[in-house]
Amino acid sequence: MSIRARLADVRERIAAAARTAGRDPGSVRLLAVSKGHPAAVVREAFEAGQRDFGENYVQEWLEKREALLDLPIVWHVIGHLQRNKARHVAEHAAYVHSIDSVELARELGKRRAAFTTKERLRALVEVSIAGEAQKGGVAPDQLAEVASAIEAEPALSLVGLMCIPPLEESAEGSRAPFDALCTLRDAHGGPSRLPELSMGMTHDYEAAIAAGSTWVRVGTAIFGARPQRTG
Ligand SMILES: *Cc1c(COP(=O)(O)O)cnc(C)c1O
Repeated sequence: MSIRARLADVRERIAAAARTAGRDPGSVRLLAVSKGHPAAVVREAFEAGQRDFGENYVQEWLEKREALLDLPIVWHVIGHLQRNKARHVAEHAAYVHSIDSVELARELGKRRAAFTTKERLRALVEVSIAGEAQKGGVAPDQLAEVASAIEAEPALSLVGLMCIPPLEESAEGSRAPFDALCTLRDAHGGPSRLPELSMGMTHDYEAAIAAGSTWVRVGTAIFGARPQRTG
């Protein structure tokens, strides 16, 4: 199947899952996760109408971005971020889904503020909703502090929460952590403060939509299996 056909298929499934959940299909957006895939396939997806792309590894992303400068791609950084890479994210990303510390929020805020003509960097707090099994993210009881640190930065805009539940045998197994993220959002100001929920990947995005996801992050279903990562 071509990337165009796969994208169409994913978009159809997203819309169907939204309708089944009684939601407006327009309330769920597709982030195409292109990590591990070359710039040429990102271009192909762009030509098929995709605008938002997610990358995990800053160095890989920067190289790809260079090769795609002619396209108005909206870049989202979704991987764990070291503070010494914050500068690049502040310069070139529209969204960062993976803020997991007060220090990172401050660093991104300071760096973004240096670009006075740019709109605010949209920021999501990554929450470790299912505990230890998950690598990244803040514990739920640290959320208030990190969210406030983002709001204290004039160059950042707090827009929501993100989670990566541990891989489950079945997509339905992810439902409990997705519901938990939604409940946590409601305990911290609800949709008016945290409108975006970034949750759901290839194997479980339909369950995430049922639970209220507004950004599904899909790689494999669009681009196929990732080649081995080399760097
Ligand atoms: C790789 C990745 C995805 C996409 O995963 P697929 O299973 O290929 O859809 C989504 N979110 C994050 C944070 C990722 O690292």
